[in-house]
Amino acid sequence: MKKVVKFGGSSLASTRQFKKAGEIIRSDRTRRYVVPSAPGKRNDKDEKVTDMLYACYDAASMGTAYKKLLNRIKDRYLEIINGLDLNLNLDFEFERIEENFVKGAGRDYAASRGEYLNGLVMAAYLGYEFIDAAEVIFFDNQGNFDAEATDKELSERLEHVERAVIPGFYGAKHDGSIKTFSRGGSDVTGSIVAKAIHADVYENWTDVSGFLVADPRIVENPQVIETITYKELRELAYMGASVLHEDAIFPVRREGIPINIRNTNRPEDKGTLIVESTLRKPKYTITGIAGKKGFCAINIEKAMMNAEVGFGRKVLGVFEKFGISFEHMPSGIDTMTIMVHQDEFEEYEQSVIAGIHRAVEPDSVDLESDLALIAVVGRGMKATRGTAGRIFSALAHARINVKMIDQGSSELNIIIGVKNVDFEAAIRAIYDIFVTAEIEA
Ligand code: ASP
Repeated sequence: MKKVVKFGGSSLASTRQFKKAGEIIRSDRTRRYVVPSAPGKRNDKDEKVTDMLYACYDAASMGTAYKKLLNRIKDRYLEIINGLDLNLNLDFEFERIEENFVKGAGRDYAASRGEYLNGLVMAAYLGYEFIDAAEVIFFDNQGNFDAEATDKELSERLEHVERAVIPGFYGAKHDGSIKTFSRGGSDVTGSIVAKAIHADVYENWTDVSGFLVADPRIVENPQVIETITYKELRELAYMGASVLHEDAIFPVRREGIPINIRNTNRPEDKGTLIVESTLRKPKYTITGIAGKKGFCAINIEKAMMNAEVGFGRKVLGVFEKFGISFEHMPSGIDTMTIMVHQDEFEEYEQSVIAGIHRAVEPDSVDLESDLALIAVVGRGMKATRGTAGRIFSALAHARINVKMIDQGSSELNIIIGVKNVDFEAAIRAIYDIFVTAEIEA
């Protein structure tokens, strides 16, 4: 059994958090490969080391004052090193970093130092080998992740290393310069390492006990999702639920390696298991609810539209011309609605309307703004009758008008459009009917 464990920034923000992570790693000998993030926030008002590094680099490379900030970054590491009683001195590393900042080594290089230094600390603390991600994670010279070269190098290298720390978030281009993934990218590194060593599970340790059925800012104390499939996760993540970097799914998914989201502050919680497919029945009919505000609808009407071959293509061609991607396209006999992100559309509003007139000569085009989309996702819906009925009766009871409904052909999700102002109430109503009511039943 081999596990890759990734610890997020809040799990490594202080000595206390480092100790919790250390205890977790030491309590299970199969936790052999560790991927740390940079130290995150210790409290709401604190700063992430990554953000401090970006700011410090910007100042240093522009020739403005940066030393104070660099010292504050140094202090973050010193606090941890001293707290852990480690025999580790980062002076040389900081001198080199400062030199490179002044030379203008790049923002990616700067940000990556957060993970690099935390990797050194973690390796010293655990007594594991330190492997610089720049030697094993590769990007091509355009900056795209090079999966093939990485997998080859990483698997060869780790084959002979029993236990190692590989810092998250960055790698190197073939020319040797440092390149990072997008923000939150240590999740991606963890997944890449898990794939390379054929891990049995990729544990992603963070500060929540897994994915929640609904956003806790909207629903009070929502339930944790015990098991979720990659497909369900993708639907929920697309609609705004976030715990894991989106790109973290792909490397492990192809290998069928499950991801286990765990809470560093509550290691006794099982967290959420993300799997390719499962026989485990979801606890409730639905797995999760997520949504986003800020959409608008373009309603097009034309008598006999249904008989006009190519109508849809011509309409969509107009959106394509302006680089606007559409989210949903519900249609009636003589009507068609295109739902798009309002902020993407607004800039081209009049040009798109004119384009539609020219392309298909409709009877009318009208716009409706300030809409929200809510995705109700669950592999359990396929086998259950009446799911849509329950959603609509819950919304009707909450006096919410449904603007649109779209059920994907996979029967994995139902998308509902409501007014922005009804968004929160709609999510609460759906949560109550499926989760609260099913717990009470
Ligand atoms: N430290 C980086 C960030 O703040 C990457 C990570 O934490 O995954 O985005």
